[in-house]
Amino acid sequence: MNIRNVGHSMKYEAECIAMLFFPDEKIITAEYPAGTSFPPSEDFIENRLENGVMKVTLRLNGQESSMQKEVIPSPQSPYEETEFLMCDMMYTLLCKATGSSAAWGSITGVRPVKLFHRRLEEGKTPQQTAQEFAEHFHVSEEKIALALETARHEAPILKEATDDTYSLYVSIPFCPSRCSYCSFVSHDIASKRAKEILPVYVDKLCEELAYIGAKMKQTPLTLTTVYFGGGTPTILSAQQLDQVCTAVEENFDLSHLKEYTVEAGRPDTIDREKLRVLRKHSISRISINPQTLNDEVLQKIGRRHTVQEIIDCFHMAREEGFDNINMDLIAGLPGDTVAGFCDTIDRIIALDPENVTVHTLSIKRSAKYGTSWEERKKALELAQQVGQMVSYAQKRLMENGWMPYYLYKQRNTLGNLENTGYCKKGCEGRYNIYIMDETQTILAAGGGAVSKLKSNRTGKLERIFNYKYPFEYVEHFDEVLRRKDRLVDFFEENRPVPLRKN
Ligand code: SF4
Repeated sequence: MNIRNVGHSMKYEAECIAMLFFPDEKIITAEYPAGTSFPPSEDFIENRLENGVMKVTLRLNGQESSMQKEVIPSPQSPYEETEFLMCDMMYTLLCKATGSSAAWGSITGVRPVKLFHRRLEEGKTPQQTAQEFAEHFHVSEEKIALALETARHEAPILKEATDDTYSLYVSIPFCPSRCSYCSFVSHDIASKRAKEILPVYVDKLCEELAYIGAKMKQTPLTLTTVYFGGGTPTILSAQQLDQVCTAVEENFDLSHLKEYTVEAGRPDTIDREKLRVLRKHSISRISINPQTLNDEVLQKIGRRHTVQEIIDCFHMAREEGFDNINMDLIAGLPGDTVAGFCDTIDRIIALDPENVTVHTLSIKRSAKYGTSWEERKKALELAQQVGQMVSYAQKRLMENGWMPYYLYKQRNTLGNLENTGYCKKGCEGRYNIYIMDETQTILAAGGGAVSKLKSNRTGKLERIFNYKYPFEYVEHFDEVLRRKDRLVDFFEENRPVPLRKN
């Protein structure tokens, strides 16, 4: 789809709206000065800002429609008002022309719940906020209810993330094989190079943990959550897991820790010995991520284990004493159906893990469609099916005692839908909330890890990047450490409030 922006440069916003309706297409935007006119052409969207009037014209499948409104900029946010008008008119015209709508309406940002929090903090009631989102942004009743529930549950946990606290992320970017939909930087351990680098990587990671642990001891910050992610951290042997957990214990004060999570991830990497190592190091929460409980779909996405292995692994973790287990699922996987996904949800509910995280597949990994009218319809139909899957999960989980506690969207997901973490009361994954809301400093170690230091003066984040790939991380390790020298200075310049006594 081609977009012509005339008299302004709101490219990003226009493309986000267009992607809701043309999810599998390349969106090409060109900008022109006010006054430019064009000869007749095939399908296009034109957003024209001239003489204080925004006019949106859509030509689709031979039909042309348009809307226009005067821009009355508010003194506080002149740009936002113009952007809102353009997005609103684009959304309205596209809904009419395609006969389709988006569950989150014209909200395309990745943190919709933050918008709800902001309104509530400004003193609006949940009812006023709900009304605004329905009328201004066309958000469905179901998503408004989801966002309000999520905001309600995460609010007390966000309050715990004071300026004098931080979290630690430990990156293990290796996996037993590559899933077809994966967009993470993770290395297939089957490759000779990855196998060789793994022990070296583990040694360097422990060295980095020692280095940054010493730096953090010079600051007044308290560590409240630790999260091992990847990749699949349990790709490490029991002895290597022990080595990394010991490095965390020896170099950080864990006495104020409220949560210690290890993404065990895939059942083909988990055994009793590793679970015992994790228990020995007081890991309080693990993830066992099936993505689907359908063997054919598992095969299709490149997993080398069965549904039965997932279930056995879950029971083994229970036997070893894990009482806070998360299970990740993905709606819209290749080969899955609405009925198949609903069956997965029902069986997960029967297993009764404390956390269930429901993701929506990224469009890049879904089936490819073209740009003809029929092909566009198919892509929208697929998005609608995924909407049904996500709605079923929300309804069934909430009926059965799980509540939504964190939610985010990624650009390019089917139907612009969300990823939602549900949990039983008191089992919220705090780290998930903090990383999504960007409330707290996150110190990150390992390949591909990005530390986010939160300033208590400006509220802004300063990032420290580690090298992306394990090979680069090992090779440029001195530079990795050098970059972390910034930690102490940062907290000098952005001194946290004094430590609480408890
Ligand atoms: S387990 Fe996760 S990180 Fe590893 S390849 Fe699959 S999706 Fe990617």
